[in-house]
Amino acid sequence: MFPPDFSSRTRSLLGDEYRLLEAALQDDATVSVRINRDKNAEEPSAERVPWCETGYYLPERIAFTFDPLFHAGAYYVQEASSMFLEQVVKAYIEEPVRCLDLCAAPGGKSTHLCSILPANSLPVCNEVIRSRANILAENLIKWGNPNVVVTRNDPADFGRLTHFFDLIVVDAPCSGEGMFRKDPRSAGQWSLSNVTLCAARQRRILRDVWNALKPEGICIYSTCTYNTEENEENLAFLIEELGAEALPVPLQAEWRVTGALKYPYPAYRFFPHKTKGEGFFMAVVRKVGGRVGETPDYGFGKENRKKSKAQSLFPDEVKSRLLHPENFHIERRGNAIQAFPVRQSDVFQYLAGRLSFVSSGLCLGEIKGKDYLPAHALALSRELNRDSFAAIALSREEAILYLRKETLVLPGEKGYALVCYKDLPLGFVKRLENRTNNLYPQEWRIRHE
Ligand code: SAM
Repeated sequence: MFPPDFSSRTRSLLGDEYRLLEAALQDDATVSVRINRDKNAEEPSAERVPWCETGYYLPERIAFTFDPLFHAGAYYVQEASSMFLEQVVKAYIEEPVRCLDLCAAPGGKSTHLCSILPANSLPVCNEVIRSRANILAENLIKWGNPNVVVTRNDPADFGRLTHFFDLIVVDAPCSGEGMFRKDPRSAGQWSLSNVTLCAARQRRILRDVWNALKPEGICIYSTCTYNTEENEENLAFLIEELGAEALPVPLQAEWRVTGALKYPYPAYRFFPHKTKGEGFFMAVVRKVGGRVGETPDYGFGKENRKKSKAQSLFPDEVKSRLLHPENFHIERRGNAIQAFPVRQSDVFQYLAGRLSFVSSGLCLGEIKGKDYLPAHALALSRELNRDSFAAIALSREEAILYLRKETLVLPGEKGYALVCYKDLPLGFVKRLENRTNNLYPQEWRIRHE
């Protein structure tokens, strides 16, 4: 069933336990979700993922595409083992941070970071592949945090930002052995040469980005594979070649997390025959200081953002759409109106000149003639002032029609209205004299039957 080289290598790694792993891989993959508490989403009455406060195992896979709450960003479907990130953040991140999630699409760890980093942190979520970067941006818009940047850059582009980030997450592209159960195609794509290629690429990614981590900053390295070349050997590379110090993460015995299988450094392995989740590896290191003086003075927070003339050229009503307009710089760029968190706006500006932005801050809408058109991102943002729009509660059937971008008949006062399902916003419609325009983004609409 599995590639013979994979079986023999993993058997020599695990000894007798390999039988148990192979048996566990015949079972169905677990299904788990992480709830978005920033949206006050309802928590399911289901078994909790023990290492993640908002993680739940579902008894079976549901058709998420046809659940309007999924599109409202009420939850993210995420493999349980990777939610262990929460324990690292709990153990090591106390103050607001500038955080780079370097290999971020489709957004499992990015949305999680948005939920668990201290308030006023700035997650920069990067994905090098264009189509995947767009999916990442979509998932982050649904999650609704206005204080986030999505970029599409090579790891080396970040390496030029000397000592910029307090925290870097490298959830590296890998040979995917841990996904054999969840995605059986990954077994067909496995090869020994790909393991070697992945391990070398992971080291290149780590080396390329390393300069961007502050002295004393934290780097979280993870993969979803079992072999030691892509895991412990790369942890050893971080320690022995890049001079990092490995850090322990507090564990509870009942989680049945496995330690490192090579080298005496702390590392965290999730095997499906022991822990309820898919195969996963995580290690945490601190960049050893000593060269703090080399950190450039970025000058953030010292001067006010230069006011562009365009800043005031948007209707007053725009501010009323936000819950806390005083926390945002609002700018008009062309016809688009964009909000940036005041506390980070100089950082946004600095990065905009150096990275390839896919999205940043919160898009509030656009000006068309005399009209202000609210953006879809505003409907899904936790910063939306819901009282500033008429709201329409949709049934499940109406919500699916809306998400398919079909025509809805919604009588009521003319103008923009927020459509909601189970009290969570799904997007906007515009009611006219005798019809309702469905403003759901064309490229996001549900296409399958
Ligand atoms: N962190 C994501 C999450 O939690 O949803 C999963 C990331 S996935 C394991 C690895 C990502 O790295 C993929 O999206 C892939 O496109 C990206 N990637 C591929 N080659 C890369 C490279 N050379 N440098 C950086 N990222 C790369």
